[in-house]
Amino acid sequence: MTDTQANAGIHMANGFDPSSGVELDPASAALLERRDRVLGPSYRLFYREPVAIESAQGVWLRGLDGREYLDAYNNVPAIGHSHPAVTAAVSAQLAKLNTHTRYLAEPIVSYSERLLAKFPDALDRVTYACTGSEAIDLAIRTARYQTGKQGFIISEHAYHGTTVAAAGLSPSLGPNNPLGEHVVTIPSIDTARTPADEVAPKLLASVEAAIAQLNESGAGVAGVILDSILSSDGVQSDPTGFLAPVVDAVHRAGGLYIADEVQPGFGRTGTWWGFERHGIVPDLVILGKPMGNGVPISALVGSAAAQEAFGSQVRYFNTFGGNPVSIAAATAVLDVIERDGLVDHAASVGGELLAGLRELGSRFDSVIDVRGAGLFLAVEFGADDEERTPDADLATRVVNGMREEGILISASGPAAAALKIRPPLPFTSANGAQLLETLERVLTREAR
Ligand code: PMP
Repeated sequence: MTDTQANAGIHMANGFDPSSGVELDPASAALLERRDRVLGPSYRLFYREPVAIESAQGVWLRGLDGREYLDAYNNVPAIGHSHPAVTAAVSAQLAKLNTHTRYLAEPIVSYSERLLAKFPDALDRVTYACTGSEAIDLAIRTARYQTGKQGFIISEHAYHGTTVAAAGLSPSLGPNNPLGEHVVTIPSIDTARTPADEVAPKLLASVEAAIAQLNESGAGVAGVILDSILSSDGVQSDPTGFLAPVVDAVHRAGGLYIADEVQPGFGRTGTWWGFERHGIVPDLVILGKPMGNGVPISALVGSAAAQEAFGSQVRYFNTFGGNPVSIAAATAVLDVIERDGLVDHAASVGGELLAGLRELGSRFDSVIDVRGAGLFLAVEFGADDEERTPDADLATRVVNGMREEGILISASGPAAAALKIRPPLPFTSANGAQLLETLERVLTREAR
């Protein structure tokens, strides 16, 4: 099998194709060649022409080529790249103490009190890990102990991480990545092609069919795990409330509802947590990416009751999880989100940007849907036929056209036909205006 054949089965929106023959500038070409000689072969780069980065501040990335790129994609630096509050907090803590959760220490307790205060009262315990995948893994174990059942229900194009268990819940990794045992997928929600009042009933019917399948197999239902904004399923945000019937259904089946908030959490959707938009209270919640603004920290939040069986029967010690340095970073992130009002900011600037994208989209036939919440937005392209056949080629051309014009976004969804716009939260109205102006230029060139 050639490299190209091996890669063909690997679904990655906006991936660099080394066989494309694209001509890179000499510095990037030399770096790429050295990188390929030392890094593992599973890595992928973004863009037709990869971006080489030297440094970043706020919503701006500085390229090795000396250009400034507007970051409308990265959600890990949620409060902005190289934020001074994180740098100061981490530096001070590193110089003072960095141990683990087996000693009594003040910062982890203070942070946990503040974090849990952002959740519904029922969610009153937090366990720390380093990555979203580890927290997903812990959620899987927790739910299986709690329910005595084995099965999980996930979305058809879900991504939940890198460990054996989390990759087993990540069909978006493509056909070469086997799903875990007792994992059943439900069809991706496709809000662009489903009337609003049919979204919730359709989802519920899929979940009920999956529950029946797991019950019949004898595995039973340990849980449903859904990203609260279904990022890898194309960013499915509305109508709000469509997740609510799923919670009741999984409870009736004796399982837990597990909200993956790695993408929408910490204010991105204009609410602290993505699940709030659906008026639900999950049993378990996974936090990650933006939590430490790039310093690895993740968490499993849930009710004491939902964690009781695992907690009383199994010891959990994650060497680096919740260490004082990562807690210092996470504390600085909470401070800045609160001080700068970034949740409301995401709602208002995101609302403006959504309106602007809708207006722009209305002028192009190939834009079939514009959706999203807060600063998590998608623009989907499709053909002018009955199925509105997804147009991934156009999405790729637009993503690369934007990159050439100095604005970084990506694509998402089962067909990778939706632009994914997801900037650091301090993104301003002026940044949004620049994005809209540039997108108009690129669409005029690339779309009909
Ligand atoms: N869940 C979701 C929804 C994610 O997007 C990701 C990361 N892309 C993960 C889980 C896994 O997080 P990590 O890469 O930190 O393990």
